[in-house]
Amino acid sequence: MARDVHVTTSTDPFTRGLDYLYGVRSLALVPDMVDVVHDMEQRRPICVWVGHHIEAVNSALNECLLACHACFHPWEQPAIQIFAAPLAQSFGLDGLCNLKTKPMTILIDVGRLAPKDWLLLVSHEYAHAHAGSPGHHDAFARSLTHLCLGLGIVPPPDQAANLPSYPDYRSTKDPLAFWRGKGDDWRLRVGLTQTPDESHADAI
Ligand SMILES: [Zn+2]
Repeated sequence: MARDVHVTTSTDPFTRGLDYLYGVRSLALVPDMVDVVHDMEQRRPICVWVGHHIEAVNSALNECLLACHACFHPWEQPAIQIFAAPLAQSFGLDGLCNLKTKPMTILIDVGRLAPKDWLLLVSHEYAHAHAGSPGHHDAFARSLTHLCLGLGIVPPPDQAANLPSYPDYRSTKDPLAFWRGKGDDWRLRVGLTQTPDESHADAI
């Protein structure tokens, strides 16, 4: 799995955080989906927090990714890397799957939903990668239904109308609060207790 996004020569948390944010910009559908680097007021506290904590957050997201992989045979598992990133409000996205990078990239704005719901959003984006399409058509529905059954999530109903926002979860009021270190203690809340992989017990 490619981890070049983490490569930085600096030990300064701010610089490490800024390097990371530029790294995930290069993996977004367009770089300005991660626009906080241009926010002179917010970026210092956010970069410092990222510099200190992003590896632990990404480790939790990787646990979610592994839980999704475990729902499929090895030869059915798409090559995916996953990273947390604060996504610009103007795009209206909580997460995305970039099918054009190699491996494919899932970006999750972990500030936009409660940690217990991260797995729900990862499963949605994983279904895009598995189906190989950004759309919410039959192949996506089949992949998502398979994931839901494997992860203990209620599978989507027959009507396709709500697939773009399935599985549903509650959005947070201030997405950047998490990125400034003002969120709840996410380590206790990641929704991994019902996954098929027993190793997740170690992460709680
Ligand atoms: Zn979608």
